[in-house]
Amino acid sequence: MKAEMKQQPAARQGDIYNPATGQVIGQVKFNSASDIDALVQKAKAAQADWAEQSPMKRARVMFRFLDLLNKNAKKIAEIISTEHGKVQVDAEGEVQRGIEIVEFATGIPNLLKGEYSDNVGTGVDSYSLRQPLGVVAGITPFNFPAMVPMWMFPIAITCGNAFILKPSERDPSAADYMAKLLTEAGLPDGIFIVAHGDKEAVDAILHHPDIAAVSFVGSTPVAEYIYKTGTANGKRVQSLGGAKNHMIVMPDADIDQAADALMGAAYGSAGERCMAISVAVAVGDEVADKLVSTLTPRIEALKVGPGTDSKNEMGPLITKQHLDKVKGYVDAGVGEGAKLAVDGRALKVKGHENGYFMGGCLFDKVKPEMSIYKEEIFGPVLCLVRAKTYREAVDLINAHEYGNGVAIFTNHGGVARNFMRDIKVGMVGINVPIPVPVAFNSFGGWKRSLFGDTHMHGQEGVKFYTKLKTVTARWPEGPAKGADFHFPQNK
Ligand code: NAD
Repeated sequence: MKAEMKQQPAARQGDIYNPATGQVIGQVKFNSASDIDALVQKAKAAQADWAEQSPMKRARVMFRFLDLLNKNAKKIAEIISTEHGKVQVDAEGEVQRGIEIVEFATGIPNLLKGEYSDNVGTGVDSYSLRQPLGVVAGITPFNFPAMVPMWMFPIAITCGNAFILKPSERDPSAADYMAKLLTEAGLPDGIFIVAHGDKEAVDAILHHPDIAAVSFVGSTPVAEYIYKTGTANGKRVQSLGGAKNHMIVMPDADIDQAADALMGAAYGSAGERCMAISVAVAVGDEVADKLVSTLTPRIEALKVGPGTDSKNEMGPLITKQHLDKVKGYVDAGVGEGAKLAVDGRALKVKGHENGYFMGGCLFDKVKPEMSIYKEEIFGPVLCLVRAKTYREAVDLINAHEYGNGVAIFTNHGGVARNFMRDIKVGMVGINVPIPVPVAFNSFGGWKRSLFGDTHMHGQEGVKFYTKLKTVTARWPEGPAKGADFHFPQNK
């Protein structure tokens, strides 16, 4: 009898590009749904023992990982810069912010401490503890290939979970490198697993019955899909989406300081940051005119080139398709009647003609109904909106569908205080253009910038990756007293 040969579908893979040259520099094999299942089973088998280890022992692995991260930070930044395109020193900054979460996670024995209430009833004590969820997953975007995964896995792992990371298929190598360092740090096999792929791998994660929770960071349509599908499948989900971050410049602000802030926040990392400022709201025409005249020569002088040369201020965009999309938004803005004060569309970098570069763009007189105002562009394009009053500026921001980050530049304490209280945005900067919360606080937006209830890292992260259990205990003395059919009460 002939053995029946089962036809296996060919493994799918994706090309990895160097966006500064436009050349393919590698391939990444995409995991299928059955691969994901095998990885989840491996994680599940390893997690039970890991959760039994004391928090201090789990923290010690993180201490060793921390040491390895510090030693290899430049190497990780180089990997990021090559695949993502951001300038190397900028990539080093992202690694450093990730390292801070690992530092936070080394304190897990303290962070997991429960509560104890003595003698809540006669002879009865009550205490609560936090236990890990089991196998959890993280799905991350291209723009922070090291930091965003580190918002998640150091805390998830030290809480006693196993973690499956599905990084962006466009710059997947930093995740593999961190997995190697975790193994070197002594993390047991199966506790941190990198799964590569696209929608197929993501869907397999969302539908897998043995994955208890999913953390997601990416664009809003996908974030919403992840939240709806994950929760429909009984998972705990925190899903962070896109952004349109505004910065109000008040008439009393120092214009040079505000312009410095806008340069870094709008054009750093080529605007491919979820906390990038993409809208400046000038209160009064005088402020607007001064901002345009201060910013224009500086945007025109931006040093644009490959990220591996740290003299550059702005690298390329991530893909040719994204470059075309961003330029398309600039075309649309012109068509909609905004005033293009600086046009970076035609910029070419000598020796890197096939790289995905463009120069910085500045739009003046942008109106709320324009697509360049309403939608996330995710490129080096700053829109300036003119508001007559502080109130008009706040109402404008509060009406926007996104609510990730926001900033105000002012020297007036009362205005700053009102702003901080009135604004419907999750992360607020007062004379700070990119108010990214530190590791022991939590990161997260409002409105359509976050689906779910829990922000990332800090105490919220510990809460997300653990379940609360409350125990009520009595050690009876004397003989049985007979059944009591009343609801337990403390008389
Ligand atoms: P993206 O949504 O395209 O991809 C994010 C992840 O989802 C990737 O791992 C990708 O493989 C996967 N994915 C993509 N399409 C999918 C689909 N249809 N179904 C299932 N999975 C899918 O985002 P991106 O382009 O990689 O990253 C940029 C976006 O991320 C921007 O919108 C930016 O604002 C956002 N972002 C938000 C934050 C935040 O904290 N709120 C932080 C960083 C980036």
